[in-house]
Amino acid sequence: MSDIKILYDAQVRFQTLIANGTIPRDDPEMLAHHLLGLVTEIGEVAQADKRWKKNKRNGHYDRDEKLEEIADCFIFLLNICIYSDISPDELKMAVGKKIDKNRSRYLNSKEEAQ
Ligand SMILES: [Mg+2]
Repeated sequence: MSDIKILYDAQVRFQTLIANGTIPRDDPEMLAHHLLGLVTEIGEVAQADKRWKKNKRNGHYDRDEKLEEIADCFIFLLNICIYSDISPDELKMAVGKKIDKNRSRYLNSKEEAQ
């Protein structure tokens, strides 16, 4: 079983526990809730590592905190898939396909520039 499936299934079990039984598997309201959650967690990643800021007044960086916030983002992404009826295999395939596509696009654009 892939790592992503192990994590996905653990998150389905947790969501089911929170919901006291069953969870909807294609629910736009749950999607909206978890999309907003993801947005806030993305902000928390940016807060944990402020070295990206142009004004160098506050260069706060806490690697452990950043890792935890990235994990929060990942969990919300899993929830987005769970409440969109997207399986871990579909997710894995789509991500792999997209990385390949981006790579080809980049290599093609480099070729065209020559
Ligand atoms: Mg967080």
